[in-house]
Amino acid sequence: TEALLINSEKLTIAGQLAAGIAHEIRNPITAIKGFMHLMRSGKSEKQMYYDIVSSEIERIEMILSELLILAKPQLIHSECKDLRALLSQVTTLLESQANMNNVQILMEFEPCNTYVQCDENQLKQVCINFIKNAIEAMPHGGDLFIHLKSNHTDRILLRFIDHGCGVPEHILAKLGQPFFTTKEKGTGLGFMVSKKIIENHHGTVTVMSKENKGTTVEVSLPTVPKNRTD
Ligand code: ADP
Ligand code: MG
Repeated sequence: TEALLINSEKLTIAGQLAAGIAHEIRNPITAIKGFMHLMRSGKSEKQMYYDIVSSEIERIEMILSELLILAKPQLIHSECKDLRALLSQVTTLLESQANMNNVQILMEFEPCNTYVQCDENQLKQVCINFIKNAIEAMPHGGDLFIHLKSNHTDRILLRFIDHGCGVPEHILAKLGQPFFTTKEKGTGLGFMVSKKIIENHHGTVTVMSKENKGTTVEVSLPTVPKNRTD
């Protein structure tokens, strides 16, 4: 736990700033949203404008909630957790979204130690981000493989493999830069936040991608003996 906390210090300043700004913006946004809702309820030709404003407000809210995740490492709650169970829960959560996009999630878990010392909610957030990116990369549907395997020392490798649009080579380096997105409704924060969380857990994120072929996001994390308590 201690090592995790010391490492999270690095995030503190950026996190506090992000959280401060996000909270400050969130309050007026909530008020604006409420009044927009009231204005919209009357019949009017201005309805289209209200809808545009509402959708832009939603976009701001999405960015704010991702920024707030940046601040979370201060509230780290470290436990020994089974990645298998964590992944099952996350995929159950995203199943309907995958179905809607004709994406089939296929899990392949090698028999090995899958216990990691982690903040469960943060790791879930990371998995959700990578799975969502994979689904969004396959607009015509396809298979999303989630592999768990040991690297035969003391680390677990978690891979998210899609056969979607891929990332062109010149863009690969931009992945993880704040606000870099190629999507109309993207925030460009998910990858950066996920990478920060994994690094905070003494892990690494590696991306292998080929344009029009697909992408593999590999997360490597240190394992711990089952039921280690601290
Ligand atoms: P967002 O999803 O909001 O765009 P992210 O930080 O999650 O923001 O991702 C940034 C960009 O990285 C995406 O817009 C996309 O161009 C690229 N990307 C991430 N994951 C994938 C993937 N699995 N396949 C193709 N491109 C990806
Ligand atoms: Mg994303």
